[in-house]
Amino acid sequence: MPVALTASDVWTERRRRVGELRVRQGFARQLLDFYGALLSVQESAYRDAAAASPPAASLASYVAEVVVPSVLDVSVSTGPERMRSDLMNRLESQDPRDIVERWIRNEDQPEVDRFLARASLGPVLEAAGAETRAACVGPHDARHCPDCGGPPQLSYFAQAQDDLATGPRFLLCARCGATWGYPRMTCAACGEDSSARLSIFSERGTTSGERGSLVRGLPHGGAPAAHHPALFPHMRVEACDSCMRYLLSVDLASDPQAVPVVDELAAIPLDLYARDRGLTKVTTNLMGF
Ligand SMILES: [Zn+2]
Ligand SMILES: [Zn+2]
Repeated sequence: MPVALTASDVWTERRRRVGELRVRQGFARQLLDFYGALLSVQESAYRDAAAASPPAASLASYVAEVVVPSVLDVSVSTGPERMRSDLMNRLESQDPRDIVERWIRNEDQPEVDRFLARASLGPVLEAAGAETRAACVGPHDARHCPDCGGPPQLSYFAQAQDDLATGPRFLLCARCGATWGYPRMTCAACGEDSSARLSIFSERGTTSGERGSLVRGLPHGGAPAAHHPALFPHMRVEACDSCMRYLLSVDLASDPQAVPVVDELAAIPLDLYARDRGLTKVTTNLMGF
C-alpha cells in the first residue's frame, strides 16, 4: 500500500507540486494557477467537512450550501473566461443541489456542471467516511472505486519496496480520490488483458517488456527529442485497442516528487496525443482534459 499521508500533508503536497509544475510546464501555467487557487478552497471545504461530518442523506444539500459558493467565487475570479460565463449561465436556471446530486448519482451532465460538482463534492468525499462515500451511485466492480463506485481518473505505480522491482499499480477515483489496486497491463475501462491489444505511449518509449511507442508532437518546437529533457519521463498513455479508451499513468518510482492527481491534470500534451489517435479518456479530469 502507498504510504498514508495525513490530511494536511495531502493538501501541502498538492500545492508543492502545482508550484513545481507551473515552472517546468509553462504551457499549463494558467490551468495550474487556477487549480492552485481552487486547492485553497478545497482544503477549507475538506477541513469543514471533517469537522461537520455531514450525513450521507444530506450530502448534496451540504455541498451546495457550504462548498459551491466558494468554488464558484474562485472559478469566476480565476478560472478561464469561458468557464465564467458558462457557470453564470447555468446557475441562472439550475439549482446547485441538483448539479451536485447528478454527479453523486453518476448521471450525464454538461461539462461545466460536472466541473462545479466535482470540485465541490471531491474534498467533502475525501474527508467523509465509508458510509457517506457508499451513498454515491456507481458500479461496484474491479474497474470502479470500491468506496463510491466512481470511475478511475488515472493509474499510478507506487514506489517499489526494493529498487529492483516495479511498484504495484493503483487506480485513483475521479469522484472521491480513493485508490485501489489493479493489475498491470489490463485496461481500466473494459478489462482487456491481452497485451497485443494494449498500447503504451511515452515520450521516450519504454524500457520494460511492455509494448511502447514514442510520443511525438510534444511542445519541443520540432527539434530532435534527444536534445531536450523529457517533460513527462514518469508518465505514459495507457491505451486499449479493444475499447479505444485510455488513461494517463504516473510512475512514482521514476519521479518520487510527482503527485498523481496534479501531474495528470497538467500533462495536456499527452491527452492531445491520445485524442489525435482517436482515443477517448476513461474519464476527463477536473479541468475537462
Ligand atoms: Zn470513489
Ligand atoms: Zn479497453
